[in-house]
Amino acid sequence: MRVLITGAAGFLGSHLCDRFLAEGHEVVGLDNFLTGHADNIAHLFGHERFKFLRHNISEFTYVAGPLDGVLHFASPASPVDYLEMPIQTLKVGSLGTHNALGIALAKGARFLLASTSEVYGDPLVHPQPESYWGNVNPVGPRGCYDEAKRFAEAMTMAYHRAQGVDTRIVRIFNTYGPRMRPHDGRVVSNFIVQALQGAPLTVYGDGSQTRSFCYAEDEVEGIYRLFNSSETMPVNIGNPNEFTVRQLAELVLELTGSTSEIVSHPLPADDPKVRQPDITRAKSILGWEPRVQLREGLARTIEYFRGLKGTPRLQPPT
Ligand code: NAD
Ligand code: UDP
Repeated sequence: MRVLITGAAGFLGSHLCDRFLAEGHEVVGLDNFLTGHADNIAHLFGHERFKFLRHNISEFTYVAGPLDGVLHFASPASPVDYLEMPIQTLKVGSLGTHNALGIALAKGARFLLASTSEVYGDPLVHPQPESYWGNVNPVGPRGCYDEAKRFAEAMTMAYHRAQGVDTRIVRIFNTYGPRMRPHDGRVVSNFIVQALQGAPLTVYGDGSQTRSFCYAEDEVEGIYRLFNSSETMPVNIGNPNEFTVRQLAELVLELTGSTSEIVSHPLPADDPKVRQPDITRAKSILGWEPRVQLREGLARTIEYFRGLKGTPRLQPPT
């Protein structure tokens, strides 16, 4: 296969490039480096089956040659990033998704949308099955991301129903691992970098809010299986083991051996109180479930951050 991966220089997009190349496929990676970095794909430059396009997918996009797949991963993903860039976020979820679907239609390629657990908003159903329609505040600060992804899902289904494009939608739950930006502001990277620097760990609110963290390798395996399946309705891919943010902070301190203190910062607006994927569909349709649990995945991620050169810049709390 020859596939286009948008957001290729990002955390997940770069791992996905590696996976498709490892399976013997050809990859065209596209990215405008809005939140990604060339370091994530530096090892692929010169690879005979990898080609890179520096381009904004929200603008008219031409990709030469045949394509069998289009995987649309371009979008700011960290709350800090999308709160700083709400318009780019809305554009890449809407115009970018439209362009990526147009490419898939023109090339007769399968399309996979990277959607998110944020389509469930601050959920009133717990854990969240794909049948839940969500509880999103469209005019809150997070609305730029949540509604962009909800629009992207609707656009994907419209191209599927009206134009016959062969589509897939993955709803990704909090994923972490090597190649996260040290300063992207997400909780796992923040806590690890803070712990390694001996800085206070910034828990927002009282830390009782929960998230369920999936290791990147598991996430990519689920996405790869979904792409190769025939399932056109959304599928949750995430690790159902749920932790409070305070438990995560304590585990990071234990695994790094850091003596940093834990401090409290204000809780950002509309921060979801709970989040846990119901992965019944992923298990039955894809035969997939995560293998790497938080302790092991964090240990590997800590090793990655320890190996980074220079002192990572920390994001101030939002
Ligand atoms: P990331 O910020 O590391 O990667 C996103 C990439 O998209 C970056 O390389 C960025 O430069 C690129 N990009 C952004 N706008 C672009 C544009 N207009 N044109 C071209 N490239 C553009 O984030 P990530 O964690 O790798 O997330 C990748 C995808 O997965 C996103 O669509 C995100 O919404 C989704 N997702 C991620 C998570 C997670 O926990 N990591 C959870 C849910 C959904
Ligand atoms: N969070 C925190 N401290 C930080 C960064 C995040 O307590 O330094 C909290 C945040 O308020 C949220 C959870 O951790 O409740 C996960 O935040 P993240 O930005 O990783 O992703 P989200 O799930 O909110 O999209």
